[in-house]
Amino acid sequence: MPSDGLQELFDRHVWGHFTTIKLPGVDSYRIMERGEGCYVWDTDGNRYLDGLAGLFTVQVGHGRSELAAVGAAQAETLAYFPLWSYAHRPAVELAARLASYAPGDLNRVFFTTGGSEAVESAWKLARQYHRMMGKPHKYKAISRYLSYHGTSLGALAITGVPAFREPFEPVTPGGFHCANTNQYRCYLCAGSCNLGCATDIEQMILREGPDTVAAVFVEPVQNAGGCFTAPDEYFAEIRAICDRYDVLMVSDETICAYGRLGEMYASTRLGYQPDIITSAKGLTSGYSPLGAMIVSDRLAEPFIGKDVSFMHGFTFGGHPVSCAVALANLDIIEREGLLDHVKANEAGFRAALEGLRDLPIVGDVRGKGYFYGIELVKDRTTKESFSKDESRDLLRGFISNRLLELGLLCRADDRGEPVIQLSPPLIAGPEQFDEIAGILRTLLTEACDRIGLDRGA
Ligand code: PLP
Repeated sequence: MPSDGLQELFDRHVWGHFTTIKLPGVDSYRIMERGEGCYVWDTDGNRYLDGLAGLFTVQVGHGRSELAAVGAAQAETLAYFPLWSYAHRPAVELAARLASYAPGDLNRVFFTTGGSEAVESAWKLARQYHRMMGKPHKYKAISRYLSYHGTSLGALAITGVPAFREPFEPVTPGGFHCANTNQYRCYLCAGSCNLGCATDIEQMILREGPDTVAAVFVEPVQNAGGCFTAPDEYFAEIRAICDRYDVLMVSDETICAYGRLGEMYASTRLGYQPDIITSAKGLTSGYSPLGAMIVSDRLAEPFIGKDVSFMHGFTFGGHPVSCAVALANLDIIEREGLLDHVKANEAGFRAALEGLRDLPIVGDVRGKGYFYGIELVKDRTTKESFSKDESRDLLRGFISNRLLELGLLCRADDRGEPVIQLSPPLIAGPEQFDEIAGILRTLLTEACDRIGLDRGA
Protein backbone atom coordinates (compact mmCIF):
# COMPACT_ATOMS: atom_id res chain seq x y z
CA MET A 1 0.00 0.00 0.00
CA PRO A 2 1.47 3.41 -0.90
CA SER A 3 2.28 5.66 2.00
CA ASP A 4 -0.20 8.38 0.92
CA GLY A 5 2.05 11.27 1.92
CA LEU A 6 2.58 9.85 5.41
CA GLN A 7 6.33 10.13 5.02
CA GLU A 8 6.10 13.87 4.43
CA LEU A 9 3.80 14.29 7.42
CA PHE A 10 6.23 12.25 9.50
CA ASP A 11 9.19 14.35 8.36
CA ARG A 12 7.35 17.54 9.22
CA HIS A 13 5.56 16.67 12.47
CA VAL A 14 6.75 13.57 14.34
CA TRP A 15 9.52 13.77 16.90
CA GLY A 16 10.77 10.21 17.18
CA HIS A 17 12.13 8.83 20.44
CA PHE A 18 15.92 8.58 20.62
CA THR A 19 16.04 9.35 16.89
CA THR A 20 17.65 12.13 14.97
CA ILE A 21 15.44 14.47 12.99
CA LYS A 22 16.56 13.93 9.43
CA LEU A 23 16.44 16.29 6.55
CA PRO A 24 13.04 15.82 4.87
CA GLY A 25 13.11 12.91 2.47
CA VAL A 26 16.61 11.81 3.41
CA ASP A 27 16.98 8.43 5.02
CA SER A 28 13.38 8.46 6.20
CA TYR A 29 12.07 6.05 8.80
CA ARG A 30 9.90 3.10 7.88
CA ILE A 31 6.29 3.56 8.84
CA MET A 32 4.82 0.30 10.07
CA GLU A 33 1.28 -0.60 9.24
CA ARG A 34 0.33 -4.10 10.34
CA GLY A 35 1.64 -7.24 11.93
CA GLU A 36 0.97 -10.97 11.95
CA GLY A 37 2.82 -13.42 14.17
CA CYS A 38 6.55 -12.73 13.95
CA TYR A 39 6.24 -10.42 10.94
CA VAL A 40 5.30 -6.79 10.31
CA TRP A 41 4.67 -4.84 7.10
CA ASP A 42 5.35 -1.17 6.39
CA THR A 43 3.18 1.25 4.46
CA ASP A 44 5.06 0.40 1.25
CA GLY A 45 4.20 -3.28 1.67
CA ASN A 46 7.68 -4.43 2.68
CA ARG A 47 7.69 -7.42 5.03
CA TYR A 48 10.07 -7.67 8.00
CA LEU A 49 10.84 -10.41 10.47
CA ASP A 50 10.41 -8.70 13.82
CA GLY A 51 13.58 -9.88 15.51
CA LEU A 52 13.17 -7.48 18.42
CA ALA A 53 9.47 -8.03 19.25
CA GLY A 54 8.88 -4.33 18.57
CA LEU A 55 11.04 -3.19 21.47
CA PHE A 56 11.47 -6.39 23.54
CA THR A 57 7.70 -6.33 23.99
CA VAL A 58 5.46 -8.34 21.67
CA GLN A 59 5.79 -11.70 23.45
CA VAL A 60 2.77 -13.42 21.88
CA GLY A 61 3.32 -11.99 18.40
CA HIS A 62 1.45 -9.48 16.30
CA GLY A 63 -2.15 -9.53 15.12
CA ARG A 64 -3.85 -11.27 18.04
CA SER A 65 -7.48 -10.30 17.55
CA GLU A 66 -8.27 -11.94 20.90
CA LEU A 67 -6.31 -9.22 22.71
CA ALA A 68 -7.91 -6.48 20.64
CA ALA A 69 -11.37 -7.86 21.48
CA VAL A 70 -10.63 -8.03 25.21
CA GLY A 71 -9.43 -4.42 25.16
CA ALA A 72 -12.54 -3.29 23.29
CA ALA A 73 -14.86 -5.18 25.65
CA GLN A 74 -13.20 -3.63 28.71
CA ALA A 75 -13.43 -0.14 27.16
CA GLU A 76 -17.16 -0.69 26.69
CA THR A 77 -17.63 -1.96 30.23
CA LEU A 78 -15.42 0.50 32.10
CA ALA A 79 -12.97 2.41 29.94
CA TYR A 80 -11.27 4.25 32.74
CA PHE A 81 -11.06 4.51 36.45
CA PRO A 82 -8.01 5.35 38.52
CA LEU A 83 -6.34 3.32 41.22
CA TRP A 84 -6.34 6.41 43.41
CA SER A 85 -8.88 5.75 46.16
CA TYR A 86 -10.70 3.26 43.92
CA ALA A 87 -9.99 -0.04 42.29
CA HIS A 88 -11.44 -1.97 39.38
CA ARG A 89 -11.82 -5.64 38.57
CA PRO A 90 -9.05 -6.04 35.96
CA ALA A 91 -6.43 -4.44 38.23
CA VAL A 92 -7.42 -6.55 41.23
CA GLU A 93 -7.39 -9.77 39.24
CA LEU A 94 -4.14 -8.91 37.52
CA ALA A 95 -2.39 -7.98 40.78
CA ALA A 96 -3.39 -11.33 42.29
CA ARG A 97 -2.22 -13.12 39.15
CA LEU A 98 1.17 -11.40 39.14
CA ALA A 99 1.60 -12.15 42.84
CA SER A 100 0.90 -15.82 42.13
CA TYR A 101 3.78 -15.91 39.63
CA ALA A 102 6.23 -13.78 41.59
CA PRO A 103 8.93 -15.40 43.69
CA GLY A 104 8.71 -15.65 47.50
CA ASP A 105 6.80 -12.94 49.33
CA LEU A 106 6.47 -10.53 46.39
CA ASN A 107 2.73 -10.13 46.68
CA ARG A 108 1.84 -6.48 46.34
CA VAL A 109 1.59 -4.80 42.96
CA PHE A 110 1.87 -1.09 42.15
CA PHE A 111 0.85 -0.43 38.55
CA THR A 112 2.46 2.11 36.25
CA THR A 113 2.23 2.76 32.52
CA GLY A 114 5.73 1.57 31.62
CA GLY A 115 9.23 0.62 32.69
CA SER A 116 10.69 4.04 33.57
CA GLU A 117 7.77 4.68 35.89
CA ALA A 118 8.20 1.25 37.47
CA VAL A 119 11.90 1.95 38.12
CA GLU A 120 11.17 5.44 39.39
CA SER A 121 8.48 3.98 41.66
CA ALA A 122 10.90 1.40 43.04
CA TRP A 123 13.46 4.03 43.94
CA LYS A 124 10.83 6.22 45.58
CA LEU A 125 9.37 3.29 47.49
CA ALA A 126 12.84 2.27 48.69
CA ARG A 127 13.41 5.80 49.97
CA GLN A 128 10.07 6.10 51.73
CA TYR A 129 10.36 2.59 53.16
CA HIS A 130 13.76 3.29 54.71
CA ARG A 131 12.50 6.61 56.03
CA MET A 132 9.59 4.86 57.69
CA MET A 133 12.01 2.35 59.17
CA GLY A 134 13.90 5.17 60.82
CA LYS A 135 16.70 5.41 58.25
CA PRO A 136 15.94 8.66 56.37
CA HIS A 137 19.46 9.00 54.99
CA LYS A 138 19.24 5.84 52.90
CA TYR A 139 18.37 7.38 49.53
CA LYS A 140 21.06 6.38 47.04
CA ALA A 141 20.59 3.91 44.19
CA ILE A 142 23.36 1.75 42.79
CA SER A 143 23.21 0.22 39.34
CA ARG A 144 25.67 -0.95 36.74
CA TYR A 145 27.66 0.86 34.13
CA LEU A 146 25.93 0.97 30.73
CA SER A 147 22.64 -0.34 32.15
CA TYR A 148 19.44 1.21 30.85
CA HIS A 149 16.65 1.74 33.39
CA GLY A 150 14.59 4.44 31.73
CA THR A 151 14.48 8.15 30.98
CA SER A 152 12.52 10.11 33.60
CA LEU A 153 15.04 12.07 35.66
CA GLY A 154 15.01 9.62 38.56
CA ALA A 155 15.20 6.51 36.39
CA LEU A 156 17.79 8.32 34.28
CA ALA A 157 20.02 8.74 37.33
CA ILE A 158 19.91 4.95 37.65
CA THR A 159 20.58 4.47 33.94
CA GLY A 160 24.31 3.87 33.53
CA VAL A 161 24.79 5.24 30.01
CA PRO A 162 26.64 8.56 30.45
CA ALA A 163 25.62 9.87 27.02
CA PHE A 164 21.93 9.54 27.91
CA ARG A 165 22.33 11.58 31.10
CA GLU A 166 24.72 14.21 29.79
CA PRO A 167 22.21 16.54 28.03
CA PHE A 168 20.08 16.70 31.18
CA GLU A 169 22.59 17.02 33.99
CA PRO A 170 22.14 17.45 36.82
CA VAL A 171 19.80 14.46 36.98
CA THR A 172 18.29 13.42 40.30
CA PRO A 173 21.18 13.15 42.77
CA GLY A 174 21.96 9.77 44.25
CA GLY A 175 22.64 7.47 41.29
CA PHE A 176 25.92 5.51 41.41
CA HIS A 177 27.25 3.07 38.84
CA CYS A 178 29.38 -0.02 39.33
CA ALA A 179 30.94 -2.69 37.14
CA ASN A 180 28.56 -4.61 34.93
CA THR A 181 28.85 -8.31 34.13
CA ASN A 182 30.62 -8.08 30.79
CA GLN A 183 32.30 -11.49 30.90
CA TYR A 184 33.73 -11.14 27.39
CA ARG A 185 35.75 -8.11 28.42
CA CYS A 186 36.04 -8.56 32.16
CA TYR A 187 38.74 -6.27 33.55
CA LEU A 188 38.21 -7.29 37.16
CA CYS A 189 39.22 -10.93 37.19
CA ALA A 190 42.45 -12.11 35.63
CA GLY A 191 41.15 -15.13 33.77
CA SER A 192 39.27 -16.93 36.54
CA CYS A 193 36.11 -15.32 37.88
CA ASN A 194 36.20 -14.14 41.48
CA LEU A 195 32.95 -12.18 41.24
CA GLY A 196 34.80 -8.88 41.11
CA CYS A 197 31.67 -7.33 39.54
CA ALA A 198 29.68 -8.16 42.69
CA THR A 199 32.50 -7.01 44.98
CA ASP A 200 32.50 -3.70 43.12
CA ILE A 201 28.91 -3.13 44.28
CA GLU A 202 29.85 -3.91 47.88
CA GLN A 203 32.80 -1.53 47.63
CA MET A 204 30.51 1.20 46.35
CA ILE A 205 28.11 0.66 49.27
CA LEU A 206 31.02 0.90 51.69
CA ARG A 207 32.51 3.96 49.98
CA GLU A 208 29.19 5.81 49.95
CA GLY A 209 28.27 4.58 53.42
CA PRO A 210 25.74 1.80 53.98
CA ASP A 211 23.53 4.24 55.89
CA THR A 212 23.04 6.22 52.69
CA VAL A 213 22.26 3.45 50.20
CA ALA A 214 18.62 2.53 49.57
CA ALA A 215 18.67 0.03 46.73
CA VAL A 216 20.68 -1.85 44.11
CA PHE A 217 19.10 -2.18 40.65
CA VAL A 218 20.13 -5.11 38.45
CA GLU A 219 18.77 -6.59 35.24
CA PRO A 220 18.75 -10.40 35.03
CA VAL A 221 20.40 -10.10 31.62
CA GLN A 222 21.65 -6.58 31.02
CA ASN A 223 20.31 -5.23 27.78
CA ALA A 224 22.49 -2.19 27.07
CA GLY A 225 26.01 -3.21 26.18
CA GLY A 226 24.57 -6.29 24.48
CA CYS A 227 22.83 -8.96 26.59
CA PHE A 228 25.37 -9.36 29.40
CA THR A 229 24.66 -12.49 31.40
CA ALA A 230 26.09 -12.76 34.91
CA PRO A 231 28.45 -15.36 36.38
CA ASP A 232 26.66 -18.25 38.12
CA GLU A 233 27.01 -17.06 41.71
CA TYR A 234 26.54 -13.36 40.96
CA PHE A 235 22.92 -12.83 41.97
CA ALA A 236 23.26 -14.87 45.18
CA GLU A 237 26.23 -12.69 46.05
CA ILE A 238 24.31 -9.47 45.32
CA ARG A 239 21.48 -10.77 47.52
CA ALA A 240 23.94 -11.44 50.35
CA ILE A 241 25.55 -8.01 49.96
CA CYS A 242 22.16 -6.29 50.03
CA ASP A 243 21.17 -8.21 53.16
CA ARG A 244 24.46 -7.35 54.83
CA TYR A 245 23.87 -3.59 54.49
CA ASP A 246 20.06 -3.42 54.64
CA VAL A 247 19.88 -2.40 50.99
CA LEU A 248 16.92 -3.40 48.81
CA MET A 249 17.57 -5.57 45.76
CA VAL A 250 15.53 -4.50 42.74
CA SER A 251 15.35 -6.85 39.78
CA ASP A 252 14.56 -4.67 36.77
CA GLU A 253 12.79 -7.17 34.55
CA THR A 254 11.31 -4.63 32.15
CA ILE A 255 12.72 -6.75 29.33
CA CYS A 256 13.40 -10.11 30.98
CA ALA A 257 10.00 -10.88 32.56
CA TYR A 258 6.93 -12.56 31.07
CA GLY A 259 8.71 -15.32 29.26
CA ARG A 260 11.72 -13.60 27.69
CA LEU A 261 14.00 -15.95 29.66
CA GLY A 262 11.51 -18.84 29.77
CA GLU A 263 9.82 -18.02 33.10
CA MET A 264 7.26 -15.41 34.07
CA TYR A 265 9.99 -13.74 36.10
CA ALA A 266 13.64 -13.99 35.18
CA SER A 267 14.68 -14.01 38.85
CA THR A 268 12.87 -17.36 39.11
CA ARG A 269 14.87 -18.69 36.17
CA LEU A 270 18.14 -17.43 37.62
CA GLY A 271 17.28 -18.52 41.17
CA TYR A 272 17.37 -15.31 43.18
CA GLN A 273 14.93 -13.54 45.42
CA PRO A 274 14.67 -9.77 44.91
CA ASP A 275 12.78 -7.38 47.18
CA ILE A 276 11.15 -5.66 44.22
CA ILE A 277 10.60 -6.63 40.58
CA THR A 278 10.01 -3.86 38.05
CA SER A 279 8.33 -4.90 34.81
CA ALA A 280 6.41 -3.57 31.78
CA LYS A 281 6.67 -4.34 28.03
CA GLY A 282 5.78 -8.05 27.69
CA LEU A 283 3.11 -7.81 30.39
CA THR A 284 0.62 -6.82 27.69
CA SER A 285 2.75 -7.84 24.70
CA GLY A 286 2.43 -4.15 23.82
CA TYR A 287 -1.27 -4.34 22.97
CA SER A 288 -1.80 -1.62 25.58
CA PRO A 289 0.69 0.24 27.80
CA LEU A 290 1.27 -1.06 31.32
CA GLY A 291 4.03 -1.47 33.88
CA ALA A 292 4.07 -3.16 37.27
CA MET A 293 6.26 -2.95 40.34
CA ILE A 294 5.87 -6.09 42.42
CA VAL A 295 6.86 -5.64 46.03
CA SER A 296 7.72 -7.83 48.98
CA ASP A 297 5.14 -7.98 51.78
CA ARG A 298 7.95 -6.87 54.06
CA LEU A 299 8.18 -3.51 52.31
CA ALA A 300 4.42 -2.97 52.42
CA GLU A 301 4.26 -3.89 56.11
CA PRO A 302 5.17 -0.46 57.58
CA PHE A 303 2.39 1.14 55.49
CA ILE A 304 -0.35 -1.24 56.64
CA GLY A 305 -2.91 0.13 59.07
CA LYS A 306 -1.15 3.50 59.32
CA ASP A 307 -2.36 6.86 58.16
CA VAL A 308 0.55 7.00 55.72
CA SER A 309 0.39 6.26 52.02
CA PHE A 310 3.09 5.70 49.43
CA MET A 311 3.03 9.29 48.14
CA HIS A 312 3.15 8.41 44.50
CA GLY A 313 0.84 7.60 41.59
CA PHE A 314 -0.07 8.05 37.94
CA THR A 315 -3.44 8.80 36.32
CA PHE A 316 -3.07 5.93 33.88
CA GLY A 317 -1.17 3.47 36.11
CA GLY A 318 -3.09 0.19 36.00
CA HIS A 319 -5.48 1.39 33.30
CA PRO A 320 -8.48 -1.00 33.13
CA VAL A 321 -8.09 -1.70 29.42
CA SER A 322 -4.37 -2.46 29.86
CA CYS A 323 -5.00 -4.72 32.86
CA ALA A 324 -7.69 -6.64 30.98
CA VAL A 325 -5.34 -7.03 28.02
CA ALA A 326 -2.53 -8.17 30.34
CA LEU A 327 -4.75 -10.89 31.81
CA ALA A 328 -5.63 -12.13 28.32
CA ASN A 329 -1.97 -11.93 27.28
CA LEU A 330 -0.97 -14.08 30.27
CA ASP A 331 -3.77 -16.51 29.33
CA ILE A 332 -2.17 -16.88 25.89
CA ILE A 333 1.31 -17.37 27.35
CA GLU A 334 -0.07 -20.14 29.56
CA ARG A 335 -2.47 -21.73 27.06
CA GLU A 336 0.17 -21.95 24.34
CA GLY A 337 2.90 -23.08 26.73
CA LEU A 338 5.20 -20.24 25.66
CA LEU A 339 7.47 -20.51 28.70
CA ASP A 340 8.20 -24.14 27.88
CA HIS A 341 8.44 -23.24 24.19
CA VAL A 342 11.21 -20.73 24.97
CA LYS A 343 13.07 -23.22 27.16
CA ALA A 344 12.75 -25.94 24.53
CA ASN A 345 13.93 -23.70 21.69
CA GLU A 346 16.50 -21.38 23.25
CA ALA A 347 19.37 -23.77 22.52
CA GLY A 348 18.32 -23.92 18.84
CA PHE A 349 18.15 -20.14 18.66
CA ARG A 350 21.56 -19.82 20.24
CA ALA A 351 23.01 -22.48 17.94
CA ALA A 352 21.73 -20.61 14.88
CA LEU A 353 23.59 -17.49 16.06
CA GLU A 354 26.68 -19.39 17.19
CA GLY A 355 26.83 -20.71 13.62
CA LEU A 356 27.94 -17.23 12.56
CA ARG A 357 31.17 -17.48 14.53
CA ASP A 358 33.11 -18.48 11.42
CA LEU A 359 32.78 -14.84 10.29
CA PRO A 360 35.78 -12.90 11.63
CA ILE A 361 33.66 -9.93 12.67
CA VAL A 362 31.76 -12.02 15.25
CA GLY A 363 33.55 -11.62 18.58
CA ASP A 364 30.99 -12.93 21.04
CA VAL A 365 27.50 -14.45 21.10
CA ARG A 366 25.80 -14.13 24.49
CA GLY A 367 22.44 -14.07 26.18
CA LYS A 368 19.75 -16.40 27.43
CA GLY A 369 16.22 -17.47 26.58
CA TYR A 370 15.01 -15.47 23.58
CA PHE A 371 17.43 -12.60 24.16
CA TYR A 372 20.86 -12.57 22.49
CA GLY A 373 23.57 -10.16 21.51
CA ILE A 374 26.33 -10.56 18.94
CA GLU A 375 29.37 -8.37 19.61
CA LEU A 376 31.24 -7.23 16.52
CA VAL A 377 35.02 -6.87 16.59
CA LYS A 378 37.79 -5.80 14.27
CA ASP A 379 40.11 -8.54 15.45
CA ARG A 380 38.79 -11.69 17.05
CA THR A 381 42.13 -12.76 18.50
CA THR A 382 42.86 -9.52 20.33
CA LYS A 383 39.15 -8.56 20.74
CA GLU A 384 40.10 -5.19 19.30
CA SER A 385 36.95 -3.18 18.85
CA PHE A 386 36.03 -0.38 16.49
CA SER A 387 36.71 3.29 17.18
CA LYS A 388 33.62 5.41 17.88
CA ASP A 389 33.68 6.74 14.30
CA GLU A 390 34.17 3.30 12.77
CA SER A 391 31.42 1.93 14.96
CA ARG A 392 29.04 4.71 13.94
CA ASP A 393 29.84 4.20 10.29
CA LEU A 394 29.42 0.44 10.55
CA LEU A 395 26.25 0.33 12.63
CA ARG A 396 24.38 3.45 11.62
CA GLY A 397 25.89 3.96 8.20
CA PHE A 398 25.70 0.38 6.97
CA ILE A 399 24.20 -2.30 9.21
CA SER A 400 21.00 -0.52 10.25
CA ASN A 401 19.99 0.32 6.68
CA ARG A 402 21.07 -3.01 5.24
CA LEU A 403 19.08 -4.91 7.86
CA LEU A 404 15.96 -3.09 6.75
CA GLU A 405 16.71 -3.90 3.10
CA LEU A 406 17.20 -7.55 4.04
CA GLY A 407 13.93 -7.57 5.98
CA LEU A 408 15.10 -8.11 9.54
CA LEU A 409 14.25 -5.80 12.42
CA CYS A 410 16.76 -6.05 15.23
CA ARG A 411 18.93 -3.68 17.19
CA ALA A 412 22.32 -2.46 16.05
CA ASP A 413 23.64 -0.72 19.14
CA ASP A 414 26.80 1.21 19.92
CA ARG A 415 26.14 2.39 23.48
CA GLY A 416 28.97 0.08 24.48
CA GLU A 417 30.97 -1.97 21.98
CA PRO A 418 29.02 -2.52 18.75
CA VAL A 419 26.39 -5.26 19.07
CA ILE A 420 23.47 -6.67 17.17
CA GLN A 421 20.64 -7.70 19.48
CA LEU A 422 17.81 -10.14 18.96
CA SER A 423 14.69 -10.64 21.02
CA PRO A 424 11.96 -12.08 18.80
CA PRO A 425 8.36 -12.82 19.79
CA LEU A 426 8.22 -15.89 22.04
CA ILE A 427 6.26 -17.77 19.38
CA ALA A 428 9.33 -17.78 17.09
CA GLY A 429 10.77 -21.17 16.24
CA PRO A 430 13.37 -22.86 14.01
CA GLU A 431 11.96 -21.33 10.81
CA GLN A 432 12.54 -17.81 12.14
CA PHE A 433 15.93 -18.73 13.63
CA ASP A 434 17.09 -19.94 10.20
CA GLU A 435 15.77 -16.79 8.56
CA ILE A 436 17.52 -14.60 11.15
CA ALA A 437 20.81 -16.49 10.80
CA GLY A 438 20.59 -16.37 6.97
CA ILE A 439 20.05 -12.62 6.90
CA LEU A 440 22.78 -12.00 9.47
CA ARG A 441 25.19 -14.14 7.47
CA THR A 442 24.58 -12.03 4.36
CA LEU A 443 24.85 -8.82 6.37
CA LEU A 444 27.99 -9.71 8.31
CA THR A 445 29.72 -11.14 5.24
CA GLU A 446 29.14 -7.83 3.49
CA ALA A 447 30.31 -6.00 6.63
CA CYS A 448 33.56 -8.00 6.66
CA ASP A 449 34.19 -7.17 3.01
CA ARG A 450 33.33 -3.52 3.57
CA ILE A 451 35.91 -3.10 6.32
CA GLY A 452 38.43 -5.46 4.73
CA LEU A 453 38.37 -8.34 7.18
CA ASP A 454 39.89 -11.52 5.76
CA ARG A 455 37.06 -14.10 5.72
CA GLY A 456 39.52 -16.88 5.03
CA ALA A 457 41.26 -16.21 8.34
N1 PLP B 1 14.27 -0.71 32.46
C1 PLP B 1 14.77 -1.51 31.51
C2 PLP B 1 15.63 -2.67 31.90
C3 PLP B 1 14.47 -1.28 30.16
O1 PLP B 1 14.96 -2.08 29.22
C4 PLP B 1 13.63 -0.20 29.83
C5 PLP B 1 13.29 0.07 28.44
O2 PLP B 1 13.76 -0.53 27.51
C6 PLP B 1 13.16 0.62 30.86
C7 PLP B 1 13.49 0.34 32.17
C8 PLP B 1 12.28 1.80 30.55
O3 PLP B 1 11.03 1.35 30.13
P1 PLP B 1 10.02 2.33 29.35
O4 PLP B 1 10.63 2.63 28.05
O5 PLP B 1 8.75 1.50 29.27
O6 PLP B 1 9.83 3.53 30.21
